[in-house]
Amino acid sequence: MKYIIILLLTLSSYGFDYDLKPIKVANDVYCFFGKLENINKENAGNMVNTCFVATKEGFVVIDSGPTYAYASQVFEEMQKIAKLPVKYVISTHDHDDHWLGNSFYKSKGALLIGPKTYEKNVVVGMETRMQTALGKELYGKTTIVKLDKVVDDNLTLTVGNKHFEIKQFVEQAHTEGDLVVHLPEEKVVFAGDVVFNGRLTSIRDGSIIGSLKILEHIDALKPKVIVGGHGSKTDANATQALRNYLLDMKKEILKMLDEDVGMDEITSKVIMPKYKEMKLYDVLHKSNVLHVYQELEILDEDEE
Ligand SMILES: [Zn+2]
Repeated sequence: MKYIIILLLTLSSYGFDYDLKPIKVANDVYCFFGKLENINKENAGNMVNTCFVATKEGFVVIDSGPTYAYASQVFEEMQKIAKLPVKYVISTHDHDDHWLGNSFYKSKGALLIGPKTYEKNVVVGMETRMQTALGKELYGKTTIVKLDKVVDDNLTLTVGNKHFEIKQFVEQAHTEGDLVVHLPEEKVVFAGDVVFNGRLTSIRDGSIIGSLKILEHIDALKPKVIVGGHGSKTDANATQALRNYLLDMKKEILKMLDEDVGMDEITSKVIMPKYKEMKLYDVLHKSNVLHVYQELEILDEDEE
């Protein structure tokens, strides 16, 4: 009983303890790698990657993470590296696990940058998926804030001694607005959810054709470090796991379309056992197959 009371007191005064330790992935570049899970109360939304770049003038954050409390704990870790302000926060796309920390950084004076879809789909006051899954206590002070700057296709940014190129390469990949952040001198790419490894992606808001195309764009930058939105593999081959999954799926579904396999049968036919051991296969694979089937079916009809 005593232990429970102490635990409750700790939770209410400090919020959830995310136990965050920054991992250095390149010179002046640090990331926090989330768990390869769906959102649940045990991880309090810490199933996503966020990164920060230390410049001489201040920090640039790429994806602010799942909650206000998470962002404030990331900020504490940043301050151990340098006592500098956060200048910019870049949100790679409009899925809420990637930007719900924005309200914390806004309160610290940072400028928020993100894609057109954030502007379009993120409505102040709306109930988020994170909020529903975590409940009031864990969601805490998290609120929704608007962007200060929307990226159309291209934006370059110089902060202190660092250069950032922010690009939307294709119309639709993981979502209808995926920003890729490139540090040309450091040869680092922050890919957001157009790169996954160690777990399956979700194609529900995206396009398989666009996803494959954007991976080509990323590889053409010849980065040494690629940080995806989920998964901790960050070398130059970090795109490979997702590319293989998408290519195999495309091939199998095109073959099924050729054989006139219908929508009602497709999920039982495209099993792709090679990927069964991947985290979140059971949750996401079938819906990915259905989505890709519909996308490729339309393309197929257009060609005929
Ligand atoms: Zn995500």
